[in-house]
Amino acid sequence: MNIENDVRYHASSSRTDLDSRALAAELAAIVGQGRVHHGSEARRRYTGDMSWLTYVHSEFGRPLSCQDVLVSPRSTEQVAGVLKLASRIGVPVTPAGGASGVQGAANATRGGILLSLLDMKEVRRLDRTSLTCTVESGMIVKPFEDGLNREGLSFTHYPASAEWASIGGCVAARGSGVLSTKYGTIQDHILSLEVVLPGGDVVDLPVVPRHAVGPDLTQLFAGSEGTLGVITAVTVRLRRVPLRRAFCAFRFETLTQGIESGRQIMTSGLRPAVMRLYDKEAAVHSLERAVRAGLVGETMLIMVDGDHPNLVDAEMSACRAICAAQGGLELNPGIGEAWWSNRYSFYHPPHAPQLPQIWGTMDAVADFTHIEAVYRSVTGAMRAAIDPAWGMTLKTHLSHWYEWGSMIYPRFVIPKGPADLDEAVALHDSVVRAATLAAIESGGVMNDHHGVGMRLAPYLERQLGQNGLAVLRKLKDALDPGHILCPGKLALDGGS
Ligand SMILES: Cc1cc2nc3c(=O)[nH]c(=O)nc-3n(C[C@H](O)[C@H](O)[C@H](O)COP(=O)(O)OP(=O)(O)OC[C@H]3O[C@@H](n4cnc5c(N)ncnc54)[C@H](O)[C@@H]3O)c2cc1C
Repeated sequence: MNIENDVRYHASSSRTDLDSRALAAELAAIVGQGRVHHGSEARRRYTGDMSWLTYVHSEFGRPLSCQDVLVSPRSTEQVAGVLKLASRIGVPVTPAGGASGVQGAANATRGGILLSLLDMKEVRRLDRTSLTCTVESGMIVKPFEDGLNREGLSFTHYPASAEWASIGGCVAARGSGVLSTKYGTIQDHILSLEVVLPGGDVVDLPVVPRHAVGPDLTQLFAGSEGTLGVITAVTVRLRRVPLRRAFCAFRFETLTQGIESGRQIMTSGLRPAVMRLYDKEAAVHSLERAVRAGLVGETMLIMVDGDHPNLVDAEMSACRAICAAQGGLELNPGIGEAWWSNRYSFYHPPHAPQLPQIWGTMDAVADFTHIEAVYRSVTGAMRAAIDPAWGMTLKTHLSHWYEWGSMIYPRFVIPKGPADLDEAVALHDSVVRAATLAAIESGGVMNDHHGVGMRLAPYLERQLGQNGLAVLRKLKDALDPGHILCPGKLALDGGS
């Protein structure tokens, strides 16, 4: 496989043989008038996801998402009807939730139908005894959480994109939230799914995650990025809003001390809900602006929560003792509280990057044996990938911790890229490529929670191996023989 020469971002214009008006009429018979738009109106209403690639292609008048028809069903039956029709006539279908993905996955690069799930947002069942909830996949995380909070309950899945991301999209991209270190990533939150297969058949999986009724089919669809089926409802576990949250903050002389503190915390059975270790660049140039605390070096924020204040305090004391023993200098705990209050402000102006900047994040994951080597080789490779004259800044934090390892999240920003689209994309891709290959070669996995999308598809074979990718392709062939769902995504049928 030739990664260098891979051409990924070619959005094929709408199929010339497709009569989008006629298709829209057939779809309207399934979902109702007013729920279907075609032609330029379909492309005006949906412009793609939030990846830099999507923004820059749109800016240059070459949008990546070139759907012929945009359809917004309101029920599982309607989704089934749309997929049945699309399978029969062989038209591509790209499901989309909140379109907040950063890998370019929710773009209808081959035209066809853009299937928006955003009008499927009912809470179907709330079980206050078992603390579970069945919710339709188009529900956006933040309003879902706000509604639960009014009942003293919480989803505890808080991606930084909570105000845009749908629950179905979180599952499809196999995402993670800021509380993952204690409560787990999205696959730990889901008990079961309702999924519509490409031919229109509806699969309703068992409502408890733990069973021995064969392999776990729920997890098969987690991370499938819309390629195997359309998720229409999700049963998630809930928690009570914790009675107490306690914060602390530490500065370390070296990142090694911070990583070792995190390792000891996780391997000794402590479970802070938040543990974020910022390298010096991230602490001084990013975190500092949000918490206004005069940070000067590697900084760790910890939040412990729970319903039993004594346990929270004891767990916090144990975390602090570990950090102090590693040479950490304890800072004002108000820094942690300020981060918690401002945690979403990082993603809005003036903090959020915008064109003509080139930006992107990588999120590699590794066990404790390799995580520091992955940090050093990925950040080193990113810096070496392009001419320093481009003035790239790189800020990295480790924010999702597991009992066996952690992840690194380097964010790069190039203040102004080349004026030519292809050259700008090539510059972006050279940083992504360097980071991805460095992560794999130094013992990590190229992605922790953002999914593959278009950005990482060329590296899937390298990551999974030929045989691993072959398994995915066989699954795809079996479930979606006509390859109508998200063709080109997840490297399941080559090209884009
Ligand atoms: C500022 C910012 C911060 C972010 N922070 C985080 C973070 O903290 N954690 C994190 O995990 N991610 C984060 N993301 C990435 C993004 O929000 C997540 O990937 C999120 O899960 C995408 O959800 P969505 O509804 O927007 O999905 P989309 O972008 O609409 O779709 C993503 C993929 O899922 C497929 N899909 C969507 N809905 C369905 C469905 N119902 N059935 C089948 N397939 C479907 C799409 O086809 C596509 O392949 C961030 C993004 C931004 C812009």
